[in-house]
Amino acid sequence: MVIFMEKPAICGGTPVRDTKIYYGHQYIDDADIKAVVDVMKSDYLTCGPKIRELEEKLCRVTGAKYAVVCSNGTAALHIAALAAGIKEGDEVITTPITFAASANCALYCGAVPVFADINEETYNIDPACVEALTNERTKAVVAVDFTGQSVELDRLLRHCRQNNLVLIEDGAHVIGTRYKGQCNGSIADMTTLSFHPVKTVTCGEGGAVLTNSGEYYRKLLLYRSHGITRDLQQMEHESDGPWYYEQIALGMNYRLTDMQAALLISQLDKLPMFSARRKEIVKAYNEAFSKLPQIIVQKEIPESDTTRHLYILRLNTKKLSIDRRTFFEALGAENICCNVHYIPIYYFPYYEKLGYKKGLCPKAEKLYEEIISLPLYYAMSEKDVQDVIHAVTKIAEYYRVDG
Ligand SMILES: *Cc1c(COP(=O)(O)O)cnc(C)c1O
Repeated sequence: MVIFMEKPAICGGTPVRDTKIYYGHQYIDDADIKAVVDVMKSDYLTCGPKIRELEEKLCRVTGAKYAVVCSNGTAALHIAALAAGIKEGDEVITTPITFAASANCALYCGAVPVFADINEETYNIDPACVEALTNERTKAVVAVDFTGQSVELDRLLRHCRQNNLVLIEDGAHVIGTRYKGQCNGSIADMTTLSFHPVKTVTCGEGGAVLTNSGEYYRKLLLYRSHGITRDLQQMEHESDGPWYYEQIALGMNYRLTDMQAALLISQLDKLPMFSARRKEIVKAYNEAFSKLPQIIVQKEIPESDTTRHLYILRLNTKKLSIDRRTFFEALGAENICCNVHYIPIYYFPYYEKLGYKKGLCPKAEKLYEEIISLPLYYAMSEKDVQDVIHAVTKIAEYYRVDG
């Protein structure tokens, strides 16, 4: 399908479709609904058997030794940061091209987020920049598997081991991906997941921390639930009786409900199917867009067998007479409703007031000017995919400049 000089809807042409399509959407089937209803008819709405069942399933799916589920991906990052021992005065290195929570988790602990620039082809954090920014105050690295493609775990882990840093992998996009044949979630010191509805599997709101360390595991359990323990071995005083428990740290209530856990258990059964479909759609997009000089396709590293959460359309602005904003609006006029992931975190007023300034990470800032997130989710039909390709091609060709 090559459409030369078809008039885009934004300047009066006919839209490629009549109904809107969004950048992400959950897929819930009857098995999911039944799983939730069954819990609602059971004895436990929270703190029940579905939590352990889900944690065991996440361990099976990812190969991690331990899993601690919690109320959302942000809570997962917070308890991971606490378990890592991040505290006031520490520095935590992360990428600016991520959701705010990846850096906020350092601020929650009184630490200072330090932004490392990205690799301009993969858009993931550049290990060389992490290495250059490491000093005696650095405590941890929060590495984000942006779009679902794994960060360079070998090099980051080596650096973290050599400098006594904790590697927290923000794996909100990564479920279903393998790095050198091993599932992400079983490699870094801790990996956090999110189960928000736009992510690959969902339970409405939900998160998890995966780890192979028994020590982190025990701390994560404490911070998830008020810092309270019923484990006699962890207690500091004699037990007063069968009802007795102790608060031994300052934790939060970040628990997940059994309704959500049941939904996620059911969703995880569909992960191979979700993953396969996402890969198909990415392949179709890549094939179509690699033919257009106006578009830059995200580089895939051979170490990562990627289940993509996001598809990033990057504009080669030298080959286009319009900027990202107009391209984005032109897609909207075709009824393709996109998004942008992400605004560099330190552009936000809150971070500006903390003293961060533009210019910190030039490659990240350039990327931000040129990107649009296209629709990518399991339930997209073949026609949906073709409509997106049609709309992008139509706009890219209409506004093409040669030179
Ligand atoms: C979604 C997301 C989070 C936060 O997850 P929530 O479940 O929404 O709290 C954190 N980091 C990244 C990279 C995300 O995409």
